[in-house]
Amino acid sequence: MRQRLERGLIQVYTGNNKGKTTAALGLALRACGHGFQVYMISFLKGSSYTGELYAAARLSPNLRIVQFGRNCPHASLIKEGFMKCTGCGECFVKREEITGEDREKMALAFRHASEIILGGDHDIVILDEILNAFKYGLLEVGEVVGLLKGKPEHVEVVLTGRDAPPEIIEMAHLVTEMAGIKHPFKDYGIAARRGIEY
Ligand code: ATP
Ligand code: MG
Repeated sequence: MRQRLERGLIQVYTGNNKGKTTAALGLALRACGHGFQVYMISFLKGSSYTGELYAAARLSPNLRIVQFGRNCPHASLIKEGFMKCTGCGECFVKREEITGEDREKMALAFRHASEIILGGDHDIVILDEILNAFKYGLLEVGEVVGLLKGKPEHVEVVLTGRDAPPEIIEMAHLVTEMAGIKHPFKDYGIAARRGIEY
């Protein structure tokens, strides 16, 4: 029988600068190396050109990534390097233009996250961008707190996104804030780069 975590904790990567999803993926890589099963659910983003999806296919079956956000209309050309991500935001559910379909997808994402966490087959479950869903009114903090309270002991849950709510910070065992000192885009006008930002 494979080894499981003795005690799974709750981790939060929040803050305004780069590093939240990258940190979660770094953790996933480390865990996969030890044979753990990692499941990542992307709540608001759906760009199918992002490198971690192809890396996950290589690390399969230890790493699985499922995206519930919107896809990019140029995804296949960006993936192959013929086009670049311009940061247009098409792949990201935005507060100003939330549709019924976005709401349905976020509800579906939460139901799926619940099944995966409560099922207990995966050692680490990453809920990427979930923290942004609260301020857009797409998820209730209470329902996520309830899910975390009921998680199996051996499952580690990682939540990422800006503006972590106090209730989640309170129950987490690790909270890291990516504080913005400099960012290539903000400070040097350098756009998102293939293999670095996506
Ligand atoms: P990454 O996926 O690179 O670790 P992240 O998960 O911390 O980033 P998100 O809020 O998911 O950050 O941001 C998505 C994109 O916006 C990434 O390409 C990221 O590099 C970029 N980004 C993050 N912080 C900033 C910032 N302060 N200014 C400009 N762009 C940013
Ligand atoms: Mg992110």
